[in-house]
Amino acid sequence: MTKRLDTNVPGDFFVNSNCIDCDQCRQIAPANFSDVRGMSAVTKQPRGDEERRLAMHALLTCPTGAIGSENQEGLQAAMEDFPLLVEENVYFNGFTARNSYGASSYLILHPDGNWLVDAPRYVPQLVEKFEQLGGIRYIFLSHQDDVADAARYAEKFGAERIIHEWELSAQPDAEHVIQGLDTVEFAPEFRILVQPGHTRGHLVLLYQEKYLFTGDHLAWDRERQDLDAFEDFCWYSWEVQGRSMARLAGETFQWVLPGHGDRKKLPADEMRVRMNQLVQRMGARA
Ligand code: SF4
Repeated sequence: MTKRLDTNVPGDFFVNSNCIDCDQCRQIAPANFSDVRGMSAVTKQPRGDEERRLAMHALLTCPTGAIGSENQEGLQAAMEDFPLLVEENVYFNGFTARNSYGASSYLILHPDGNWLVDAPRYVPQLVEKFEQLGGIRYIFLSHQDDVADAARYAEKFGAERIIHEWELSAQPDAEHVIQGLDTVEFAPEFRILVQPGHTRGHLVLLYQEKYLFTGDHLAWDRERQDLDAFEDFCWYSWEVQGRSMARLAGETFQWVLPGHGDRKKLPADEMRVRMNQLVQRMGARA
């Protein structure tokens, strides 16, 4: 039986015992949600329209339905906001899935066909939005953990899934299978880089030499205010992940858009400096 956690402050919004500590609510509405003893809690009730809207975004994004609100005011409008703009033609989909542990997925609107980067939960609200936005042509799957409802989206939109051969067990009938370790120039502006470490066939997607979609390979750590990789969640090889990161440090990009962890934009020069510092730290820890 779920129960409202006693770590919440009294009021409208609350987190219940279904929380799996995925961090999404703390990223989306940091003024209102905090980490308390390994789970999220509402540590300040939203004040004003903007905070309420963000709290509703968190409620809708939560993969386990662990966030509740006694008052549904603003829920429908918040639903209409998805997918949420990141920058230019890149969006965060919200509606994360429990089976990807609440991993973020993204949408790239493109004149040659839209890309889904990893997959969200299959929900009618998003399906309808994707239809309005021109459908989905490709579904890029960074690795086996974050496929969520990719197969259902592929079937609905006739989309082509892209995954590495060593992750294929998660999506055996994928249409494009990346082989080996070589970078793939998949389409103009879209490069697929093989970055083993977190898993053996982990991929990242570099779009326009600006947006790097990193899956579980690389993220921004908000506490340290720096780039980071997650040794405690490295399932294949930390040493190999360090070598992958060293190759990645030679690429140009401004945005890090991960499955887990914070998104971050920096000037390309600063991003390169921080990447090289991360490579050094990882080497020291290997
Ligand atoms: S989004 Fe849901 S599951 Fe994730 S930390 Fe917040 S309350 Fe917990």
